[in-house]
This record gives sequence, C-alpha cells and structure tokens, in this order.
Amino acid sequence: MAVRAAVLPAVGSPLEITEIELPAPGPGQVRVRLAAAGVCHSDLSLSNGTMRVPVPAVLGHEGAGTVVATGEGVTHVAPGDAVVLNWAPSCGSCPACARGEVWLCADALSGAAGIHARTVAGTEVHPGLNVAAFAEETVVAASCVLPLPEGVPLTDAALLGCAVLTGYGAVHHAAAVRPGETVAVFGAGGVGLATMQAARIAGAAQIVAVDVSPAKEELARAAGATDYVVASATTPRQIRAVTGGQGVDAAVECVGRAVSIRAAWESTRRGGRTTVVGIGGKDEQVTFNALEIFHWGRTLSGCVYGNCDPARDLPVLAEHVRAGRLDLGVLVTERIGLDGIPAAFENMTAGKGGRSLVVF
Ligand SMILES: [Zn+2]
Ligand SMILES: [Zn+2]
Repeated sequence: MAVRAAVLPAVGSPLEITEIELPAPGPGQVRVRLAAAGVCHSDLSLSNGTMRVPVPAVLGHEGAGTVVATGEGVTHVAPGDAVVLNWAPSCGSCPACARGEVWLCADALSGAAGIHARTVAGTEVHPGLNVAAFAEETVVAASCVLPLPEGVPLTDAALLGCAVLTGYGAVHHAAAVRPGETVAVFGAGGVGLATMQAARIAGAAQIVAVDVSPAKEELARAAGATDYVVASATTPRQIRAVTGGQGVDAAVECVGRAVSIRAAWESTRRGGRTTVVGIGGKDEQVTFNALEIFHWGRTLSGCVYGNCDPARDLPVLAEHVRAGRLDLGVLVTERIGLDGIPAAFENMTAGKGGRSLVVF
C-alpha cells in the first residue's frame, strides 16, 4: 500500500509530496506509522545542500509513531507500541561506541546510503537521515526505534527525537550547567527553546535568550528565558550588562553562524564555556587572536546530537514531561500537513517561529 511522503528529488529542488511504496520490514527492521514529525533546520540544510545525503530522499528525522510491523529478530518493540525515531543509531562496536560516546558513532548515518522505498513511478529513494519521517509510514532499522515511555503524548513526542534531545544534552552533557549558573542561548528556534527549558530544569539562575527577531521574546520567556536580547553587534556587551558585568557561565549557540558563535564566546565570563549546537557551512570562519584565548581562559566545544545516548536519555526526558518540568507544546508554533513543509522551510529561512510539527 502506497503512503504519502515529502521527497527531495535533488539538492536545491523543492520537495515533492508524492506517494511511495515501502517494502515489508526485513530482518532487523521495523515499519512505523508516523503520528507526527518536526521540521528541523537540518532538513532545510539537506534540501539546500549545506548538509549532504544521497538523493532522492525522504527527509524528516524527528518523529514519533506506532509500530505496525516488525521483521525477523526484532525483540525490543512489537506492533502497537508507541516509539520515537532515533536518526543517529549507534553500531556498538566502533571506537566511539566502545568509549561510550555513541553520539559520535562512525556508522550512524550509513543507513542513509541504502534504498528504503520507491515512488509509485518506480524511482528508488533513500531514507534521508536514516528514518525518513516526512511520510505517513516508514521502514527503519530496529536501532532507529526507541520505545516511548508512558505519559508522553505521541504527537508531541516527535520533538524528543531531535530538538529536545539536542537542547537537553547541550545543557546537561556538553555545557554541564550547574544550579545557580547563568546561561545564554543563541537562537530561539526549536532547539534553542528546548535548550532554554533544559537550562531551567538544570536550575540556571538566569537564562538570557538571544535572537535576531524581536517577535520571539514571548516564546522564549515561555520556555524559561529570564532576559531577552535582540541580536546585534553589541550582544556581548548587553549580556554582560544583565549579568553584573561578568558575562554568563555558559553560552549555547543554536544558530551555526560565525558571527553568532563569536558573540556567544564573547558573552561568557572569564573561564566560561561555549557549546556550539548549530550546524553551519564550511564558509563560516570563526577567528580568535592568540592573546584573547589565553586571557579569557574560555572553552569552546562542539556538540553532536546533544552528546546524548538516546536510549539512556529518553526516559529521563519523559520523566521531566510527566512531572511538568518539560513542556513540549511550548516548542510547537504551528501544526501542519506534509503540504505545509515548504512554507515551514520559508519561515525557518526568514527566522520565524519555533517548531513546525507535521501531524499525520
Ligand atoms: Zn534535527
Ligand atoms: Zn559506533
């Protein structure tokens, strides 16, 4: 039975909403009926070529749904189970996995090279970032499927798969924010808003949100921001001004642009930490002089998928949802159908809104 999907035919081309035919799940595979899928900035980056995957591809990597069938050898989920899609499964045997750094697994995106479906016209399509969530149904490796813990609404749970794991992990694992610390969050999109909530959960005393758009202040405050700064050339000075002249203990950059990474670094106190979550292009060059690196004693770190082990962290996030500390609904600024994804891309390019959620 064919299902509707958003297919990227070629880099730089508009998405096509078309029907695809999925095979029955083979050994070690699971077929999932999507309940919802978030539109992430990485989907836009894949469509315009900033990031690359084999095409044609079904994009979408932040999803949740219900298992409809399992292939041979799949034991951790069964038909009827609610699941969250994990776009970066770990192999368990590469050097990174052996160190426990599963988010750096060398094999994480190998599934994207395979063929997972065909259009009804017969064209082979790849599963974008492994999970091909912009479709009514998908067939994925069993390692891409995590059981959804009780008490989390299935549609909102989609956000756990990318934005929330990333934002939570940036705060809890990468920046290791401690109670009472001050935090600046650059970018108030889906990941930025999740980062603000994570900082609040971590007990941050002050959370300064920074975004180019003045219109996101209300969203940011709902996610836990205590201060709001509209990004400009004076952003670091403004952040020092609201933190007693010091700068923040930790900055999390969720934009991926040189100017924003540099501003985040300059916004931290001496000895402060900057975590870069945003994914930028190769032409975004960030520069530092040797003297300031010494003088400020700061650190600048990359962060992949929040440095999370999704299987370990998902139950923790679910507990925060159940306890009312993590509000997934705050992150969603519009609910759309598959047809709405191109407009959601335009909104992201224009810097508008939080997360657009495709609801099936
Ligand atoms: Zn994402
Ligand atoms: Zn591995």
